[in-house]
Amino acid sequence: MNDPSHAHKCDHLIATISEYVDGSLSPQLCAELEKHLRECENCTVVVDTLRKTISLVQTCAEDDCLPGEVRARLFHTLDLDDFVKNDAMV
Ligand SMILES: [Zn+2]
Repeated sequence: MNDPSHAHKCDHLIATISEYVDGSLSPQLCAELEKHLRECENCTVVVDTLRKTISLVQTCAEDDCLPGEVRARLFHTLDLDDFVKNDAMV
């Protein structure tokens, strides 16, 4: 498959994924993203990775050992934009 509009859609939706796993995404975007996830393995992997990371962070946060600032930095470190771009090139 070589569909440039698909890669563009990933780019657009990837920005909403952190809010999606956070539960703060609007229902409309949520539905759009879930629809896309059913047909996009790339984004499914991103959501999966992010969910695992967040559950780790939340488990840790319960012990009060991980401030929100660290969590924000974690999102940044994951560098989702690069992940998607690299994967789309393959
Ligand atoms: Zn995608």
